[in-house]
Amino acid sequence: QRRKLVAGNWKMHGTAADLDEVRAIAGAAAQFGGQVDVALCLPGTLIHRAADAVPGFPIGAQDVHASEKGAFTGDTSVAMLRDAGAVLTIVGHSERRDLHREDDSGVKAKAEAALAAGLDVILCVGESLEEREAGRAVATVAGQLGGSLPERIDPAHLALAYEPIWAIGTGKVASCDDIAEIHAAIRALLVERFGAAGEGVRILYGGSVKASNAGEIFAVADVDGALVGGASLKAADFLPIVEAAA
Ligand code: 13P
Repeated sequence: QRRKLVAGNWKMHGTAADLDEVRAIAGAAAQFGGQVDVALCLPGTLIHRAADAVPGFPIGAQDVHASEKGAFTGDTSVAMLRDAGAVLTIVGHSERRDLHREDDSGVKAKAEAALAAGLDVILCVGESLEEREAGRAVATVAGQLGGSLPERIDPAHLALAYEPIWAIGTGKVASCDDIAEIHAAIRALLVERFGAAGEGVRILYGGSVKASNAGEIFAVADVDGALVGGASLKAADFLPIVEAAA
C-alpha cells in the first residue's frame, strides 16, 4: 500500500527566523517515521540552512530549471539544489504555470531533469474555476498530465499533486466527491500508461488543507497525502495534518 506523503510548500515565506519552525516540524515528524513521509519545500534562500539544521529530514525546492547550467538569470539548476542539500522539488505548481507562463512541455523537461539527476519530484496539476464550471476539470487535468509527465516514472521518486486552482489559498476546499473523481481519473490514466508503476505513484491533494479537514480528505480513495501551503508555515498548524495522515 502507498505510504502517505505530507509536504509543505512555504512559497515566498520564511527567513532564518523561521528555522525554528523547520526544526520543530522535522523533530516531530520523526515520530511518524515509517507511517507517513514528511517534507518541506522552502524558498531557495533557506534550503541550505534548513538542510544543515535538520540532517536527514527531506528539504525541497519549489521549482528548478531544466538546463544543467548557462545564461539563465535568476534560475537554479538541479545540481545547485542538490549542492544546497535539497532532495526533492515541486514542478509545475499553478503559480508557476500562471504567473511565470510555464507550459506542460517545460514542466515535463524540469521533471525529467530533476529525476535524472537524483532529485525527487512533486508534479502539480489542477484546473481553474472557469474550467471546472465548464465541466472540463477532468479533461484539463488529463491534458496537463499527458503533456507534463515524464516518459518513464518511478513511484519511489515521483509524486503528483492535484491542486484545483480555485481552492489554493482561498479557504475553499474541493468536496470529497470532487477530489475522489479527479484522483480516480488520475489513477486510471497512470495505470493505463505506466501499469504497475502507475499504481504506486502517490497522488497528493492540495488546496486549503488544514487540520480540520485533513482527516476526511485523507480518507478519500487514491488520496495519498497532501501538499500544504499556508498551514505548513507553523509547526502547530502543520503537525496535526501530518498526524491525520498517520
Ligand atoms: P494553500 O494550502 O495555502 O491553499 O496552498 C496550497 C498550495 O498551493 C500548495 O502547493
